[in-house]
Amino acid sequence: NPPQEIQTFWKWLSDQGVVSAKTPVRPGLVPEGLGLVAERNIARNEVVLEVPQKLWINLDAVAASEIGSVCSGLKPWISVALFLIREKLRVDSRWRVYFNVLPQFTDSPLFWSEEELAELQGTQLLSTTVAMIEYVQNEFSKVEEEILIPHKQLFPSSITFGYFLWAFGILKSRAFSHLRGQNLVLVPLADFINHSPSIITEDPAYEIKGAGLFSRDLLFSLRSPVDVSAGEQVLIQYDLNKSNAELALDYGFIESNLNRIAYTLTLMVDPTDPFFGDKLDIAESNGLGETAYFEIILGKPFPPTMLPYLRLVALGGTDAFLLESIFRNTIWGHLDLPVSRANEELICQGVIDACRSALSGYHTTIEEDEKLMEGGYLDPRLEIAVGIRAGEKRVLQQIDGIFKERELELDELEYYQERRLKDLGLVGEQGAIIFWET
Ligand code: SAM
Repeated sequence: NPPQEIQTFWKWLSDQGVVSAKTPVRPGLVPEGLGLVAERNIARNEVVLEVPQKLWINLDAVAASEIGSVCSGLKPWISVALFLIREKLRVDSRWRVYFNVLPQFTDSPLFWSEEELAELQGTQLLSTTVAMIEYVQNEFSKVEEEILIPHKQLFPSSITFGYFLWAFGILKSRAFSHLRGQNLVLVPLADFINHSPSIITEDPAYEIKGAGLFSRDLLFSLRSPVDVSAGEQVLIQYDLNKSNAELALDYGFIESNLNRIAYTLTLMVDPTDPFFGDKLDIAESNGLGETAYFEIILGKPFPPTMLPYLRLVALGGTDAFLLESIFRNTIWGHLDLPVSRANEELICQGVIDACRSALSGYHTTIEEDEKLMEGGYLDPRLEIAVGIRAGEKRVLQQIDGIFKERELELDELEYYQERRLKDLGLVGEQGAIIFWET
C-alpha cells in the first residue's frame, strides 16, 4: 500500500471528524502490513480510537442499502460479503478510500497456489482448507443462482468466485464478532490493529458504546491493552484459544507458542458395530455423538472424555454386558478406568495405527522441518506450512508414544472385574481372592 493511499484514507477520516490531531494512533507500514502506530506514549487501557456506526460495514449497513431486501434471508456473513463486493466495485462507494487500503489477500492457505498448498501435504490444515474453499464455493453457487442472477440490475455481472473468496477472507481476518448486538462488523481503521503473541490479557480490547448522552449513535472503541511508547505499534491479542491451524486459516500467520500446537483426533462409533445403537445412546447421553472430535494440544493431558469414548467405541466380546440397559446410569463412570485387557489393548492398537497412518502422509520429517525453520528466512507461506506440519507431527508422535507406553503396561493395569471384586470386599490387599467358609 503506497503511503499516498493511507494519507487519503486518513484525510477521509479527518473530514468526517473520526480522527483529529489528538488521535493517539496513525495507520502506518509495519512488518505485519499496515498497522496502528502510536503518535505519543499511550497508557494501558487508554482509548486509541473511536469509530462511529456510520462507517461500519455490517448487517445494518446492508439492510439500509439498495440490496437490503434481497439479502434479508441470507446468512449474515453472505449478506455482508455481497455488500462488501458491491461497494468495492462501485466507483462512488462511500468506502472507496477504505477499499483502496484493504489488502487483496492474506497469507491464509485459502489464497495459496497449488504449489504452496503442496507444502501442506498430509496435514489436517490442508483438509480443512480444502473443505472451507468447497464450502465457500457452494455458497457462491447458491447465491449466484438465487440472488445475483435474478437481481442482475442490482449487482454487477463481474462478481465472481474470486471476489467472494476475497470478501470471505477479509471478514475472517478483520471483522469483529461476538460484540453486543453485532454479529459481524467491519470497522475501518480499527481493523488495522495487529496481533501480538506476547499480549495475554483476557479482557477484550474493544467495545461498542453510546456516543454520548444526547446521541443515539454508537461508537466502536478500541483501547491499548498495554503501555506503548511513541513510535511503537499498538497491538492486541486476537484469540488465546485458537490453534496455529486456526490462526493460519483465519489470519495467515502462526505463532511459535507451544500451546497453539494441536491435532484434532476424530473418533467414531462404527455404524456396522453390532452394538451401534447402544453405543450411540451412551455417547449421546454424555454429550458426545456418533463422531467425536478431540483437540490434543502438545504437552497437555488428553481431553477428559477421550479415553472413555475410545473404550466405548472398542467395547465388545465378553465386555459387551456393560452395554446392557441396567448399566446405563453407571457405564460412563466405568469407562473412565480400564475395562478389560482386551479393550485397553484394542484402543492402544487403534490409536497407534491411526498415528502411524497419519504420520506416513507427510512428505517431510520433523528433523527436515526443523532444519528449514532454523535455516533463516523463509517465505511467510512456507514458514506457515513448515510450522504446521512439524507441529502436527509432534503431537501425533506424542500421542503415539503415550499409547505405546500404555500398551507395555497392560498387564499392570487394574480392570473392571478386579475393581468390582474389590468393591465387594472379595479381594484382599495383596490381590488374593478371599475364600470364605460356607
Ligand atoms: N495488517 C493488516 C493490514 O495490513 O490490513 C491489519 C490487521 S488485520 C485485522 C489482520 C491481518 O493482519 C492478518 O490477516 C495478517 O495478515 C496481519 N497480521 C496481524 N497480526 C499479525 C502478526 N502478529 N503476524 C503476522 N501478520 C499479522
